[in-house]
Amino acid sequence: MSGNNENNPFKIAQQQINDCADILKLNPGTREVLLSPMREFHVSFPVRMDDGSTRVFQGFRVQYNDAKGPTKGGIRFHPEETIDTVRALAAWMTWKCAMLDLPLGGGKGGVICNPKELSPGELERISRGYVRAIGSFIGPEKDIPAPDVYTNPQVMAWMVDEYSSIVGRNQFGVITGKPLPLGGSSGRGDATARGGMYALREAAQVVGLDLSKATVAVQGYGNAGSYAASLAESMFQSKIVAVCDSRGAVTCKDGICAAKVAEHKQNTSTVMNCEGTENLTNDELLALDVDVLVLAALENSITERNADQIKAKIIVELANGPTTPEADEILYNKGIHVIPDFLCNAGGVTVSYFEMVQNAYMYYWDEEEIHEKLDKRMTRAYHEVIQTSEKFKINMRKAAYAVSVGRVVEAMKLRGWI
Ligand code: GLU
Repeated sequence: MSGNNENNPFKIAQQQINDCADILKLNPGTREVLLSPMREFHVSFPVRMDDGSTRVFQGFRVQYNDAKGPTKGGIRFHPEETIDTVRALAAWMTWKCAMLDLPLGGGKGGVICNPKELSPGELERISRGYVRAIGSFIGPEKDIPAPDVYTNPQVMAWMVDEYSSIVGRNQFGVITGKPLPLGGSSGRGDATARGGMYALREAAQVVGLDLSKATVAVQGYGNAGSYAASLAESMFQSKIVAVCDSRGAVTCKDGICAAKVAEHKQNTSTVMNCEGTENLTNDELLALDVDVLVLAALENSITERNADQIKAKIIVELANGPTTPEADEILYNKGIHVIPDFLCNAGGVTVSYFEMVQNAYMYYWDEEEIHEKLDKRMTRAYHEVIQTSEKFKINMRKAAYAVSVGRVVEAMKLRGWI
């Protein structure tokens, strides 16, 4: 996941912080605080496998900055997880929570494992083992995990159950993204994609794009990507012309039905060979002549290697860290409107925050109320970023950094840290 050294996500995150510190003219001490995580935990824990053997798994939890509140961020299960990826993701969570003005800091966790090769029982024992290992470092007022790549509401349910038995009482507020019967929030399932669609709606107005006539390509068909495809259809009547997953891409210029590809992927575990489509490569998908390109896979999808080939008018970054800083400049100079990751994909953590509030009050809102509250926050954040971008003539990512880092710095100043 971290790729070669120059695409090391944490080096990229630090470069972005340095660029922002230059724009905001931050003093050296403040810059230094922002450049490293406040706390990180490296854990190894034993898990009994189905064949009776014991395997030791390695995991991480990084609490990047808690100036604005308890740290918040997902847990990834991935065979190529690295501490630098988790550090970068924890930094991005800090800016993401500040972007939406949530009373939260940023964190992230990861376990090196391959869920595709694990039985449900093994997955459950890894989930519980990880929570036992990091149990004393998390809590509703300390650090609140959630789902991320290859973790889901069931994994969250096992984790909240394990944590509750450690502390001796039900403590639903320790984790978000839970199933509805265990204190989950309505609207959390598609929140990341839906938040991105609200931002896209605003961006289309700025760019002058009629979304009902727009063509869309979607890279990645997990939670964020598949919901983005179906919401682009139902909210805007846009035409999905290509989608891909880690195995390859499919295209159809007359349009692909999002639900049909999702069903095909459910049955065959890939979008490839879906009826009525032609196969193509992931690189070809990125370079298609579409109006909207949704990035919903992993880090470093658009780099200086392929940025020049991108033809989309708007890029919707639902993944974390899909575009490198060099690629950002190329896209900006080409006039492509990028909705940057920690603005665009903040819908997930925003509804997670609503989930925490509902858990604390033991009172639950309906879906309509969640959508309305999410829309309001996403729309406000989008306009704060575009106004900053226009005012300082900087790209959207740098503008998002200026808004978010500015808020974290203000909190650190008030607390007397800097
Ligand atoms: N993993 C999601 C993200 O990257 C959600 C985090 C959360 O809900 O805490 O934003």
